[in-house]
Amino acid sequence: MSFAELGLSEKVLTAVTAAGYSTPTPIQAQAIPHVLARKDVLGIAQTGTGKTAAFTLPMLTILETGRARARMPRTLILEPTRELAAQVEENFTRYGVNQKLSVALLIGGVSFGDQDAKITRGVDVLIATPGRLLDHVERGKLLLTGVELLVIDEADRMLDMGFIPDIERICKLVPFTRQTLFFTATMPPEITRISEQFLHNPVRVEVSRPATAAATITQRLIASNAQDFEKRETLRKLIKGATDLQNAIVFCNRKRDVATLHKSLQRHGFPAVALHGDMDQYARMAALESFRTGENPILVASDVAARGLDIPAVSHVFNFDVPTHAEDYVHRIGRTGRAGRLGTAFTIVTRHDDKLVSAVEKLTGQTIAFEGPGLDALPPGEPREERRGGRRDDKRSSSRGGRGRPERGARAESGNVRPDADETVADTQRKPRRVPIRPDSETAAPSPVAHGHDEPRRSRPHRTRDDDDGPQVKGLGDHVPAFLLRPARVG
Ligand code: AMP
Repeated sequence: MSFAELGLSEKVLTAVTAAGYSTPTPIQAQAIPHVLARKDVLGIAQTGTGKTAAFTLPMLTILETGRARARMPRTLILEPTRELAAQVEENFTRYGVNQKLSVALLIGGVSFGDQDAKITRGVDVLIATPGRLLDHVERGKLLLTGVELLVIDEADRMLDMGFIPDIERICKLVPFTRQTLFFTATMPPEITRISEQFLHNPVRVEVSRPATAAATITQRLIASNAQDFEKRETLRKLIKGATDLQNAIVFCNRKRDVATLHKSLQRHGFPAVALHGDMDQYARMAALESFRTGENPILVASDVAARGLDIPAVSHVFNFDVPTHAEDYVHRIGRTGRAGRLGTAFTIVTRHDDKLVSAVEKLTGQTIAFEGPGLDALPPGEPREERRGGRRDDKRSSSRGGRGRPERGARAESGNVRPDADETVADTQRKPRRVPIRPDSETAAPSPVAHGHDEPRRSRPHRTRDDDDGPQVKGLGDHVPAFLLRPARVG
């Protein structure tokens, strides 16, 4: 199957060739002809399968005829996060290079003014996160009655983030006769229900998801005591001990832990940046840019980072926490070992993580070995550090302890129960140790992330419209967000 057989326009085919793609991916081969036939499509595929081009390429072909009218976009794409929205915009820029289409990005965290101006001129493609889109509608600057084609992307992510009521509202604002493309990585019952609500006689296209981790990734568990300061020490030892470490993403389950860990790593002289949902758009862009350029080769991130972002050539992934959702494990470690390269994924495990690790192993069908001693070799258990809103299994005993091989000790050495012990005066005055990946790291490098944005939010009772980053640590991002600053006009 070639792109030429799918029914795409000459201009789009030329752009695809220029992008270097010779063969459509399975989701593209299956979905594109149906989109061009103006059918509703239910696409079950996750990021990394080429699903973005599966809808952008036929949309570009369809949009070649017709013109945009003021304040009435012709097509609408809904994305759960700002980063994903920006990546879709980048796809339109790349594949729409031979066309003169107007594309607007409506995401939280940036001013309304420019967005308003663009909408007023008329846009062919509107890419938005749900909250910001509804804000524009309520301000009376945007009419959705001209939308011919609606894309709901990452629907299961939308569900996780509590966006379904917003999506339902938006669907009432667009014409009943529109064409709808609905993409989701998984089909839990709630997604089945809303897909039936939003789609009319859809064609179902499905591509297999990577249920197992790539064979190019070496996976290991690392036993640690459960206190966060001990886990941080475990992580520092891991980073320092990894001789082949080029760059790394460190995943935490919670946004506030991202901020805390980031600051701790900086204090210890590690060249780290943070990426999580409470940072503003500028800080996120700066953090990603500095990670991608290698200026700060350690990225501490929430799962917002794990999904959708295509950061090339990451040598290591460290799971500071075992992910609460086993699926996130596959997404996280999938940041390394890409394109045939070798990668390493370490997961720090405490006595409380038994069920979570079992869930991961069940999902991937692989047993993950301990590097160094297992949990049974740890000093006696300590009172667990209280976590507000924590969702972990509180089981004290573990059946996992005996599995470790007595090779390299990676466990925390401190048996003291001293929350935030790595923030003591003695510790902060200690000369930061040399980090193998950054010879000049004797001094803690200042992060491009403004500390003001990095403070964890202590309470957040209600979601706000600009909460397009998830209720807590969910997913991260792909490309250097320079494109976020680019004018959105295509062609
Ligand atoms: P996506 O699943 O849309 O996030 O795409 C994942 C990656 O695959 C992106 O970096 C795309 O640029 C790339 N890609 C999309 N379509 C193709 C194709 N037909 N051949 C090779 N790479 C592709």
